[in-house]
Amino acid sequence: MFCRKCGHEIPNDSNVCQYCGEEVVYGSRPSDYKPTNGMAIAGLITAFISPLLGWIFGGIGLKRANNGYGGKWMAILAIIIATANFAYSMYMVSTGKLDELLNQFMNQ
Ligand SMILES: [Zn+2]
Repeated sequence: MFCRKCGHEIPNDSNVCQYCGEEVVYGSRPSDYKPTNGMAIAGLITAFISPLLGWIFGGIGLKRANNGYGGKWMAILAIIIATANFAYSMYMVSTGKLDELLNQFMNQ
């Protein structure tokens, strides 16, 4: 077989390419396989509830995505949603709309 990184022919039973040191991956798994990025998923879910959690998980998820994990766009989306959630909360508080909303809720 051939090394997927440097293209040298290497013995079929080798675990590591003897030319470039690339780890040999067996099976039908495509070479661009990326492990699931749980942090990006967590960020995407928590961003709706808490901007802070969305930023933390989204940030860790983005860091992982840059280290070979999948879910890069999910992590970016989590950060965007968290930011939007934060901006919306600030808007609601600064304009007094949050108080209005709470009052309406209390008076029902
Ligand atoms: Zn190689």
